[in-house]
Amino acid sequence: MSEPTSMDVLVSLSKRRGFVFQSSEIYGGTGSCWDYGPLGVELKNNIKRVWWRDFVQTRADMVGIDASILMHPTVWKASGHLDHFTDPMVDCRECKHRFRADHVDALPWVHYCPATKGNKFTIPAGEPCGHCGQRRTLCPQCGKGELTAPRQFNLMFKTFMGPVEEDAAVTYLRPETAQAMFVNFDNVLQSMRLKLPFGIAQAGRSFRNEITPGNFIFRTREFEQMEIEYFVNPNDRVDGRPADEYWHDRWIEDCMAWFRRYGLSADNLRLREHERDELAHYAKRTVDIEYRFPIGWSELMGIANRTDFDLKQHAKWSGKSLTYFDDERKEHVVPFVVEPAAGVDRALLAFMADAYREEEVRGEKRVVLKFHPELAPIKVAVLPLLKKRDDIVRTAHTIRADLAKHWRVVYDDTAAIGRLYRRQDEVGTPYCVTVDVQTVGDSERGEAGDFRVTIRDRDSMEQARVPIAELGAVFRELLDGAPWSQAARRYPAPAAKASGP
Ligand code: ATP
Repeated sequence: MSEPTSMDVLVSLSKRRGFVFQSSEIYGGTGSCWDYGPLGVELKNNIKRVWWRDFVQTRADMVGIDASILMHPTVWKASGHLDHFTDPMVDCRECKHRFRADHVDALPWVHYCPATKGNKFTIPAGEPCGHCGQRRTLCPQCGKGELTAPRQFNLMFKTFMGPVEEDAAVTYLRPETAQAMFVNFDNVLQSMRLKLPFGIAQAGRSFRNEITPGNFIFRTREFEQMEIEYFVNPNDRVDGRPADEYWHDRWIEDCMAWFRRYGLSADNLRLREHERDELAHYAKRTVDIEYRFPIGWSELMGIANRTDFDLKQHAKWSGKSLTYFDDERKEHVVPFVVEPAAGVDRALLAFMADAYREEEVRGEKRVVLKFHPELAPIKVAVLPLLKKRDDIVRTAHTIRADLAKHWRVVYDDTAAIGRLYRRQDEVGTPYCVTVDVQTVGDSERGEAGDFRVTIRDRDSMEQARVPIAELGAVFRELLDGAPWSQAARRYPAPAAKASGP
């Protein structure tokens, strides 16, 4: 098992190549807020697009919604968020640093060791001091102050609806997208004439006033989620099992397969079953998909069986019936719900970490992001071999404009070709097109062009000479998933690799 890519490497690459910037950086940055740059926004949109296509568009049992972030405040009373959406918080009495009580033991800790005349050590999380054998009791940050007893802290962001800041106007930024699917259950059911089982999906922003945000985009106060509420008839059985249990397992398998399909290696993924005492108050069973992030194994998404809790709660608080009429049994039932809930930002971090490679090519380091072509922010880069030749540059611009009708395609002539290839490797562009003298010919010497260009595969660095007229068809094939070996077989390799790999 190879070591995970370090967070510093990802943060620095993200900034350097326009994936993620610190929010409001010129003012010193905003704690735990990040901005997606030109390549980050493409990557993020691609993740959301393939998720939507695979889990909504192509499935007959799924529909989507896009609900508002500000909801009726009673939603949060009914859902339990006002009373239960809290984390235990502790403060250091000395340095005033604040921690999530349940995260303190997972931090390395500062220790002034009595066995070594008070020398200062930083000891790995959870381990005792190697000299005196003591375990941590004080603040892990300063090593001096006592920690206060835990206090519950509600994670919802409060705001006011309308111009008057009074109690009656208090509302909240949603801490999850899920509740909109429950409160719209009947609207969707009636308008779309759905039959159980069916699911409602939504991708959008959520806000949590996390006590200890951090680790780049892993834990932020504003983030995006992709959530599904999959409603099943609790009286149905599938393969001899209660329908909710069957569908819970199906969603766990489907989500695991989805992350693997787009590039996360099996070695870096695992399932974690929630223990009875950590289950949320509404859940019958919850399983997390964990990823081996640079910070260690952590939650990438959660898949919970929320039973009929949410629909019953909203029916109680709204006074509206939120049931489904079971035609066969001639009875109203409250569906059970299975919730696959993923974070877009954590998915992006995982896809980036897994795609990152440092390779040696002819004695030089090559950094490459081996993104799945569907996720790659740029699909094709068109590069002129000589930027002083007008006909080469013109042809390259025309090719870019043609291909850009279908995909994100860029033109770059700001360095020599070897350098341009490396730049595209570093941002994960799966294919490059090089326009050279052979393509356009040399009129002064009376040589005609062959109207072919060199296309280059990011992963194998192999090249093929493809007629310009066939580029669209070849890239369609490749970007639809055909292997390079199959698509390039029809075309000759360039005579000499003047351009280098
Ligand atoms: P954690 O235990 O890490 O706080 P959670 O169990 O509270 O996460 P859920 O409520 O299950 O998270 O939310 C579903 C998904 O939303 C998570 O698996 C994660 O990918 C994402 N998510 C939750 N909180 C954050 C956050 N503060 N920053 C970024 N993504 C988040």
